[in-house]
This record gives sequence, C-alpha cells and structure tokens, in this order.
Amino acid sequence: MLQVINLKKIYKTKGGATVNALDGVTLSFPERGMVFLLGRSGSGKSTLLNVAGGLDSPTDGEIIVKGRSSKDFSQSDFDSYRNTFVGFIFQEYNILDEFTVENNIALALELQGKSKDKEAIERLLRDVDLEGYGKRKPNTLSGGQKQRIAIARALIKNPEIIMADEPTGALDSNTGKQVFDTLKKLSRDKLVIVVSHDRDFAEQYGDRIIELADGKVISDTTKTEEPENTINENVSVVGDSILSVKNGEELDDEDFAFIKSFLRGKKNAMICSEDGDVRALKRAAKITDSGSKEVFRDTDEKSVPKKSYTDEESRFIRSKLPARHAFKLGASGMKTKPVRLIFTALLCTVAFILFGLLSTMMLYNNDAVFRDSLMASDYSYMGIGKQFTVTGKYYQGNELVNEHSYRQQTKLTKDDIDGLSELFGTSAFGAIGINRDIENLSSRPNYTDYYTGSIKKVAALDEGNELLSKVEYGKYPETENEICLTSYTAQALVAIGLSDPDSGEAYTLSGASDVVGKTVVINATPYTVSGIIACDPLPAKYDVLKEEGEAEDWTLSYYFAAELESGIYQLGFVTEERLQTFISHGSESINLFNGSTSMGVILNRGQDNEEYWYLNYGKLAPNAPGMDIYCSDGAKATLADDEIVIDCYYFLNLLERALERDTESEAYKKWNSSEYDPETGEIISYSVREMFSFGFDPGFKEIELAHGVTRESCREAAIEFLNTYGVWNNIQTTVCAINGYSDVTEAFSSTVVSARVVGFFVADSFGSAAFVSDAIFESFEAAVKNEMLSLGWGYSEESTDYVVPEGVIYDMAFIAYDRTEASTNLLKPYTDGVIGEDNGIITLNNPLVESINQTNMMVESLSKVFLYVGIVMAVFAALLLSNFISVSISTKTREIGILRAVGARSIDVFKIFFSEAFIICTICVILSCIGGAVTCAILNAEVSELIGGVSLFVFGPASVGMLIGVAAVTAVAATFIPVYRAAKRKPVESIRAL
Ligand code: ADP
Ligand code: MG
Repeated sequence: MLQVINLKKIYKTKGGATVNALDGVTLSFPERGMVFLLGRSGSGKSTLLNVAGGLDSPTDGEIIVKGRSSKDFSQSDFDSYRNTFVGFIFQEYNILDEFTVENNIALALELQGKSKDKEAIERLLRDVDLEGYGKRKPNTLSGGQKQRIAIARALIKNPEIIMADEPTGALDSNTGKQVFDTLKKLSRDKLVIVVSHDRDFAEQYGDRIIELADGKVISDTTKTEEPENTINENVSVVGDSILSVKNGEELDDEDFAFIKSFLRGKKNAMICSEDGDVRALKRAAKITDSGSKEVFRDTDEKSVPKKSYTDEESRFIRSKLPARHAFKLGASGMKTKPVRLIFTALLCTVAFILFGLLSTMMLYNNDAVFRDSLMASDYSYMGIGKQFTVTGKYYQGNELVNEHSYRQQTKLTKDDIDGLSELFGTSAFGAIGINRDIENLSSRPNYTDYYTGSIKKVAALDEGNELLSKVEYGKYPETENEICLTSYTAQALVAIGLSDPDSGEAYTLSGASDVVGKTVVINATPYTVSGIIACDPLPAKYDVLKEEGEAEDWTLSYYFAAELESGIYQLGFVTEERLQTFISHGSESINLFNGSTSMGVILNRGQDNEEYWYLNYGKLAPNAPGMDIYCSDGAKATLADDEIVIDCYYFLNLLERALERDTESEAYKKWNSSEYDPETGEIISYSVREMFSFGFDPGFKEIELAHGVTRESCREAAIEFLNTYGVWNNIQTTVCAINGYSDVTEAFSSTVVSARVVGFFVADSFGSAAFVSDAIFESFEAAVKNEMLSLGWGYSEESTDYVVPEGVIYDMAFIAYDRTEASTNLLKPYTDGVIGEDNGIITLNNPLVESINQTNMMVESLSKVFLYVGIVMAVFAALLLSNFISVSISTKTREIGILRAVGARSIDVFKIFFSEAFIICTICVILSCIGGAVTCAILNAEVSELIGGVSLFVFGPASVGMLIGVAAVTAVAATFIPVYRAAKRKPVESIRAL
C-alpha cells in the first residue's frame, strides 16, 4: 500500500542550523491495520506523517503509493494523492467554521468531484455517534464532537489510508478513547497511521508500533498473539508471565507444583481471583478472549504483504473545489476588515467610474454630434466670417522663448461670397457691419435686452437670392431710402415701440405687419420699411431674457448675443446702391501690421512745442480691411524713405499745426472760413474738418444730411484743398523708433527721420498707426530690438501670411442652410476654418458650433484628465485591493491548510481568493455602473443644451464593457501575486501556521 524508502527531511532553521527531522526512514505499511508512530516530542513523528501523506516533500528518499513512486510526482500529484487515498485527522480538528457539519463533510467529497451524498453523511454521523448534527455550525460543538466530525470528514471519501496526528491530544481521556475506538474499527479494512506519545494506547490499540527518536526508527514491533501453553486441564501459561487457572476447578498437587515452579522463575507473575474484574484485567494484561496473549515482536517487514496494483487502482483523482464553495470561502473573508473593505471598494468604484466616463468620451464622436446638433436645429442660414492667423514670437536676447498664434477678424471679398455660393449650391450674400440703433424708438432698451432695436449689419440681396422668398410682408427695397427689416426686428419694434420721427408720435403697432410703411431712422437717415423678411426662430431657451433682460446666467446672455450676431436677426436689407455708401467704413480697427512695437511720431509744432505720440507702425498695406487710404498722388502703393501715411485724426492735428504757422496764408483763411456756398457747390472747411475728426465713419451721414453733401464729394474737396494750397508739402514731421516704454533715448537718435506726410487713412478706430517705407520699417525694427536686448528685455514680433486681397468689403457672409446631411457635412470643415489662397480662413460663425467646438475641447481635455487620474486611481485601488486580499489570505491560512490537507490543489486556493476579489470588483462594477450612469446623466443635463440637446455621454454597453474590462484587469493584477504566493506554499506550511 504505502512504502517510504530512505526518507530524509532536513530543516534549516533561521539561525542556519540544520535539523535532521527524518534521517533515513524506510518503512513498509500494510494494507490495513492500525500503526502507531511513537516517540518523544521532536522525534520526527509529525514530519514522517506529513511526508508520507504528501503534505510535505522529503529532502531525499521516496514514497511509493500503490506502486507509484513520488519521484515522478508534481506538487499537484501530491495533492491528488491525498485527495484520493488519504484522510487526515489533526489534533486541532480543523473544521471550517463557515460551513455546517454536513457541508464540512461534503466538502471532502466534492473536492473529488463527487456530489454531496446526504445519506452517506448521515450514515457517517451515525458511525461517529453524531446523528442529526448535520445542520449544526462547528462553533456549537465540543472538542470531541469536532474531532469526530473531522473523522467523518476523513471517511466520507472512503480513503484507503487514515492519518491522524495526535488526534486525542486536545481531548480528555474518555473522549480520546472513543476516538481510538472509532479508529480501531476503521483499521479493520484501512490503513490507519496514528501519531501518539501515549504508549498505553499504542499497545492497547496498535497492530504495529513504530518508535522514532531523532528522525530514526529505533524500534518497529508488530503485535502477535501467543497461544496459551496448556500444562494440563486446569493450568495454562499465557505469554511469559501469566498463569491462567481454569475457573471452578479443583487443583491437584501436580498443579500446585507447577504453579510453585512457575512463580519461582518469575519476578512479576500475576494471579487473579475470580471475584475480580477478569475482563478488565485480561484487557490490561492484553489477553484475548480465547486466552492467548498479545505481545509485540519485532516487525518482519518481509511479512508485510506486497501487492501489485492495476493502473485503475492507483489512479489519482484531481481535486476540484466547487465554485460555490470557493465563492463562499471568498465571501467570508470580506467580513474581516469592513472599514478597509469599504475604503477599497469606494476607491475601486471611483476609478472604475472614471474609466466608464472615459469610455463614453472615447465613444464621443465629434462629427456625429456636429451633424446631429445642426440637423436638429432651426437654422436656415449660417453666418460665415473670415479670419487670418497672426503668429507672435517672443524673444529674450537671441532666444525664441515662445511662439503663439491667434486669429484676427478680417473681411470677405465678393469672390469669397461667390465661392461659398458655388460650394454650397445656395445663394450666399455678404453683410457690412454698421452697428447702429434705430433712433426713433419710443424708449431706449438696455443692450442686454431681448429686443434691442439695433441694426448691426446691412446687406443687399441679389435678384434670385433664396432669402427673397422669405419676404413675409411688403416687398424688398427698390429705392435708396427703403429698408427691409427682419421679423425679429419687427417684433422688437412692436415690443419697444416706434415713433414718427417728424411728429414724435408713437405708431400703433400691433403686429410685425404693421411695421411695413413706417419710418425708421438709422444713422440720422430716415428709411421707409418696405418689407419684413422672416428670420429663423430664436431657440426657446432664450425666452427667459424677454422678462429678465439680463439673465442670471450671464452665459445665456453671452450666447444670446452670439446668436443674434451670427444670424440675420439684426440685419437691415437695402438696395445695392445704398449698400455702397456703407462700404469701406466698417467697424473694424486696423490690425494688419507686420510688426507691433511702437514708434514715436514727433509732431513739428514749432521749436518749443514738441510732443510725440506713440503709434504702431507698419508697412503700407493698401488693401487693409476697414481702411481707406488717401494720398497726395492718388493710390499710393509704395512709400519713399522720407514719406509717411498716418491716421486721419493725427493727420488733422498735423495739418492744423502746419496751417497755423502762417495765419496770413490763403490756406489758413480758407481752412477757417465758415461759409458754404450751395450755388458753387463748394464745401465749407467745417465739413472737411468734421469729416476728418469723424474719421469718415458712418456718423458722417449726419453731416451729409445737415449740409447736403456726400462723403465722396467731401473727400474730394478735402484732397482738392490740400492740393490747391500746396498744403501737402508743409505737413512735415519727424519719426523715429521708440520702444514704447521710454522716451526717445540716445539709442534711437540714429533712427530719427524727417518725413513728409503724403497721405492719411481712414479707419473707424483712430488707429494710432502710421505706415512707413519698408526700409524705415526694417531699421526701426532693428533699433527697437537692439534697445530691448541692451536693456535685457524681451521683445516680440508678430507676422502673418495673410495677404489682403483686393475688394475686402463684407464683415460677414450668410449662406442658406437646408439642414440636410450633405450640406451639414460640407459645413463641417468650416468649424475649424478653411484656409484660402490668400491665407485667410473662412470660418463658420455660429454659437451652436462654437459650443460644440468647446465641448469637443472639453471632452478632449477631460478624457486626458480622466485617463490619467483613472490610471493613478486604478493603480492605487489595485494596491489597496492587493493589500486587502493579502490580509484576507493571512487570516485564511487555516482554511487553506485544511483544504490542502483534505486534498485541495493550489488552483483551488486561487479560486477562493479570486472569488473574493471578484466579489469586491463585482460590487464595485455594479456601483460604478450606477455611478457612471448617474454622472453621465448629470453631465448630459449640464452640457446637452449647449450642443442643441444632443446627449454627449452615452453610458451604454460599451462603457459597461470597458468598466468590466478594467475591473477584471485590476482584480487580476491585485490578487495574482499574493494569491500566487499563498497557493504555492506547501500544504504543511499552511497547516503549521494554524
Ligand atoms: P514530533 O512531531 O515528533 O514532535 P516533528 O516532526 O514536529 O516532531 O519535528 C521533528 C524535528 O524537526 C524537531 O526537532 C522540530 O523542531 C523540527 N522541525 C519540525 N518542523 C520544522 C520546521 N518547519 N522548521 C525547522 N525545524 C522543524
Ligand atoms: Mg508532532
């Protein structure tokens, strides 16, 4: 059955000393019978039992189980050997507290892959006198009862070998006897190996006693029965020292003579009277009922029957811990550290939620959101603008410290508009910004009001433009003083009230249609409203502004303003001729300079009357948007090194200084005369002066009205005045580079150039700017740069690739939008902007698109944050989980040991702790799914309005999948190492840790 050959087990203690716990033990165990291992504490009994039972591996030697040598065993084979053939019983019972008595017993069976056999369990419980205890929990049992449960558990799988290590050590002697009786009964058809240090029990119950000392077998004896030696009818000798006298017989002399001689030869002879407890005495004297005496004689190993086994007989059964048990054991570990568990679970949950949200962001599709949002919108027109990129380089010394770029607004040309028409296959039109309020409103609204009564832009629609079909009331303007308003503006007029400009009486307006035929004054010019064009309905979310004026949520006001700005709401439609009068007088400032540092323009105001101004300087850019340039020789394209062109406001200033120098001159007189002769059509200087100081902006219209002159005639008169009186040649000034922070220092003295002002330009913002020749520009740049460097300051350079094309006119363009997928896809590239040949960038101006873009950016940066924070948290969560599992393993060592002793393999131990991690992670996954879905709902509620009601974060199956994936990775990563280490431990190590 079981053989051990030359077994050695050497322990190395921590101090480095070695202990020969087994020192060449060779034994052959029989098929059945009760074998005792006796010896003092530390003699190696347990070691021998553990090695022989496969709980521990020998340092040397082999075990032969049913003809199979342990030399060919893997750890798993040892486990299977135990599982198949060995039932272990320990001193400390080792019952699993989590399971009922019944399940404790069933576990051993189930590990063999067999199902729970209730009848067999009940039978076994009866055998160990614990009938009806099946449903009890171990903590309700006494020690002896527990030990008998342990025996029942060892028996349930009907093992061929029972190994018991001091099974009665923790029991009182009476209970101990019961245990031995049970074992003895079993030894009739099993091999029972019992470790004990109680020689009496060994001799009483043992069939064989093997005694160990210092890891060696010092004696090996087998019980033999010596038949009584009958002397005559009455007297017989049992063993060596017992004389048996037959009960109730008369002894004759011969008998007495024999008795005398027997007693003479023996020191410890024994005679008992029949009144005593003969049975007990017999048992003590080890006399069998038949009267023969049991004695231990040296074991003749050769007499141990050798058997050969078929493959079938020696086949191992691999253990298989049922998942529900692994689960239950795993779950029981979670109770140990509830606070830590909650903390770990919370952290895991947060980490998983982050990954769940991350997945929704990864699934977020910019294009789809853009398409869905726009197609679901009410827009039938899309605003288009034009920008260009300015690149700024900041230097410190010769080192480029940073480079940044930003976009600046510019204007569109007719070609740009035509290009859009062609591309989108719809009629596009351009609009010119005027930014005026209607002047004859009954009351003055606040600029944040829902209805402001402003005309921000004007446009002229070509014949055939699709928007013409939307004229609701009246007709499109046919004469210069007619205007068509939008339905929004008409409603605004109804809401605010409009008064007749002549009488000051309020018009009766009860609906948009009433506005037709009324007069609106814009820029001091009266227009008759010829018709109303229907514009897109404004999104209902802005309705609150009708009451509140300024919404509590200022972003709403901001988006409302952007909404109005990007649509046709505040447009006025006029004839093409009227539109012409607005061209070139846009609301834009000059921003197109190559170079941005300041220079000083020193104005010659006489010897002791010098002052200088800081002006931006640039190279002459004839087509700069929002700017008209007037030069002494007409259209100037290039400047000589002593020529400059400056802003009209400064020009006026220099012009007056020049004239003041000779108050007797014709020019001075003419300039200061205040008459105007309508007969000759001569324009009084007042008009010219006003023209300059107004910067020719749309406000000049008021002068036009007052004096009946046109802007064009006024401009011509001004230039004629300058030419006729030769004033051009007198407007001298001095320019030099200046760094903008200090006065004209030494450093810049070399750059002082005496210049003649040969032209002025008109821009709405009195642009503090001057144009110089390319050469002067370069020399100023160099000087400023030098000075900055010598001061140790940084300086910046700005430049653009944008080449202003001819005919920049329109501030914005509008294209019809049919909300089809095709045109939406066409629009898509315009969200970022489409770069044209002139390096200008045509871009979509739409608050919804702006929101979508912002959302995209938000999603992009949030994804990054979520990813990194998620990874950090997941790692942290994994560490916590790992720690939790480690703690759980250390508290579960007992259970692991028990299971291993019963026959569980490493993989079963894996299963338990993976179950534990799995349970924790599953809870976290469920919480995360709920948390993720709620968070998404909240986020969606926050942002979906910004992107036209489209849900941004869709927490669907993919997110749940991602979450589960991350949870699985976390669980595996966190548990693998501690569980691997626990599972790799030899079973005996787990048991010893009990
Ligand atoms: P017994 O069961 O007879 O009391 P053991 O088999 O437990 O003795 O021990 C035999 C010897 O081996 C003893 O000297 C004991 O100290 C030593 N020993 C047992 N286990 C270990 C171990 N894990 N590490 C070191 N020494 C050990
Ligand atoms: Mg021991």
